[in-house]
Amino acid sequence: MRIDVHVHITALTPAHGAMSPLLRNNHLTRFLRLRFGIFGDDEKSERAFENILAKTIAQTTDLDAAVVLAFDRVYDENGDIDDARTNLFVTNDYVIDLVKKHPKMLFGASVHPYRKDAVAELERCVAAGATLIKWLPITQGFDPSHKLCFPFYEAMAHHKIPLLCHTSGERALPVISPQFQSPELLLPAVERGVTVIAAHCGSRADNKSKGFVDEFVRMARDHEHFYGDTSALNLPPRWTAYPRILEDPRVRNKLVHGSDWPIISLPPPEYVKWGAMARMMMDGNWMRRDVAIKKYMGFDEAYFQRAGTLLRMPT
Ligand SMILES: [Zn+2]
Repeated sequence: MRIDVHVHITALTPAHGAMSPLLRNNHLTRFLRLRFGIFGDDEKSERAFENILAKTIAQTTDLDAAVVLAFDRVYDENGDIDDARTNLFVTNDYVIDLVKKHPKMLFGASVHPYRKDAVAELERCVAAGATLIKWLPITQGFDPSHKLCFPFYEAMAHHKIPLLCHTSGERALPVISPQFQSPELLLPAVERGVTVIAAHCGSRADNKSKGFVDEFVRMARDHEHFYGDTSALNLPPRWTAYPRILEDPRVRNKLVHGSDWPIISLPPPEYVKWGAMARMMMDGNWMRRDVAIKKYMGFDEAYFQRAGTLLRMPT
């Protein structure tokens, strides 16, 4: 099965989650609203975004399915909800409802590991068909190497559910814990038998930072069950990760397809000739464009199938 392992949905109504004023006024949020023609914060707007996502996936005929990601709130070390520091919240139940309606959507659950009921919520999501757990520690405010995460890792290993965890910096969402960017913080997860997919392969989020590609490459070489997704790599600051993740076949064989839709996908000039680039830029479907760019760059069938194997989908 060919899967895009990294696709976002946002909640616009309180029934399905929340967006902070900081995130609402972010220039990227405004750009995306304009791009998709969604200006309200009501059920109608939420439904419109759902329909755009469903159409985007349906048009991307090279893919069989996309993992749609929930996004948990911030919790403190006592296990209490921290609404003041939560910028994005998309409930697991919202995504559970979406995947029931749309057969090409898969459930990507999100559970903050400091929750008192973290393991119970994980098990509820597994029972509801979760294919992976998604984390963004620098925005959700936790340290993936903290001992509070260990029981959660043990439960994940028991249920054989992979972890898709953001690595390096972030531009689309406000960052509250910038110290938790390194792929090496995920070592306690792999040591406990969890299959880990480091989102963005540690690539830098802006031109000023160095990023964590070296750390990612080391982890991917050293640990059999440590992978990386290529989501958002078709953004100019992240293009610089390509030569390093593609040069070593051991690392190349650890790459998993992801787009980070609705984030834009731009062809890297170092790999894509001008004529092909012009053709790709004509495609307003950024999920499909992301597939086209990666196919052109030589990403092979095994790469597109890899997520399906990790997520234990039928072949
Ligand atoms: Zn993402």
